[in-house]
Amino acid sequence: MGVELSRVPPSLRERNRTLVVDVLREQGGVTQADLTRLTGLSRATISTLVAELRIRGLVLEQPAAEPVRQGGRPPNQLALAPSAGNAVGIDFGHSHVRVAVADLAHRILSEREEALAVDTDPLGSLDLAADLVRDAMRSAGVSAGSVIGVGVGVPGPVDHRTGRVGSTSILAGWLGIRAADEIERRLDLPAVVDNDANIGALAEASWGAARGLRHVAYIKASSGIGAGLVLGGRLHRGANGTVGEIGHDIVDEAGPFCRCGNRGCLEAVAGGVAVTELLSRSRHEPLTMQQVLDLAEEGDLACRRALAEVGRQIGAAAARLCNLVNPERVVVGGLLARAGDLLLDPMRESVRRFGVDSATAGVQIVPSEFGERAGVFGALALVLREGSPLFGDRLRASLQGQPA
Ligand SMILES: [Zn+2]
Repeated sequence: MGVELSRVPPSLRERNRTLVVDVLREQGGVTQADLTRLTGLSRATISTLVAELRIRGLVLEQPAAEPVRQGGRPPNQLALAPSAGNAVGIDFGHSHVRVAVADLAHRILSEREEALAVDTDPLGSLDLAADLVRDAMRSAGVSAGSVIGVGVGVPGPVDHRTGRVGSTSILAGWLGIRAADEIERRLDLPAVVDNDANIGALAEASWGAARGLRHVAYIKASSGIGAGLVLGGRLHRGANGTVGEIGHDIVDEAGPFCRCGNRGCLEAVAGGVAVTELLSRSRHEPLTMQQVLDLAEEGDLACRRALAEVGRQIGAAAARLCNLVNPERVVVGGLLARAGDLLLDPMRESVRRFGVDSATAGVQIVPSEFGERAGVFGALALVLREGSPLFGDRLRASLQGQPA
């Protein structure tokens, strides 16, 4: 049997309790057996800690949402109580701001969205985001003191070492802006920032189309194309946050110039902007990506063919990605993914044809489960799943503030 908790030194007890709370925050709901396995603590220690947290009303026991085992009643799950704290997510798209407030049991309490020219008006966008967060918190009855952190997603590169957003060619209007600092200043809450493909990967691996998998590639195909990687259960950022820039793989050295300054990039050939420009020229009328998707669904041959070719090109990039990192599943999100199998079937074909057998055998190419909401859910996952020492401190302070 494990050591009696009363005989465990307070510092060790505190550390064990932090471990339990961190696992519950990351996982949302888990069985007591999972909690034992994931913390590496003894069953007796877990029982005592859980009992203590339940008496204080910080942990709830509830029936599992779906049967985790065939036959018999599924074991109850443990989750942090609503009073344990909250998380806030902010997603900046190129033309919208979306925010959400959740509790630490991973339940969405409130969401807001508004259209805005984000690319060209960074400060206006940051102000609007702060207003939307305050409004969402008010309607969910959430006070600032209970928020452990704010996750922020932006549709462009983020230097993970400095927190600075932008490059001279991608999201140029945001160049040099420290989005996390700006949000912290407006909301007086700690914030972290990451790019849209990274947080999309986190969202899908946490709750969506790759739920529970440890090796996941997420490809966001919209006006631009980028990938986020969850490897070994953790978001993989590279040395300075520039991981998965598959949109700037060179696919045709003599191809069209790309916004990054290179030419013949995948994005310049198969990105949403490239596709709409090409089709607009042939139809002699300006088309949006949504119109291209609608026309393809109605059977327009040129639009269907364009999407199939885009699928083949992105599929070849996905094959290279599979060869490099060998994911269990590739999730495809972003506006282009709305084309469904029109895009995904040619992608699957390319992955089979160009990938190494052992890297692509069994890999599934599936659509995003969250579509446009992948960003805001990923921003929440930055707080709940990735955490940060900053958030941990606030969570502990929040727990210590609770009556014993
Ligand atoms: Zn490029």
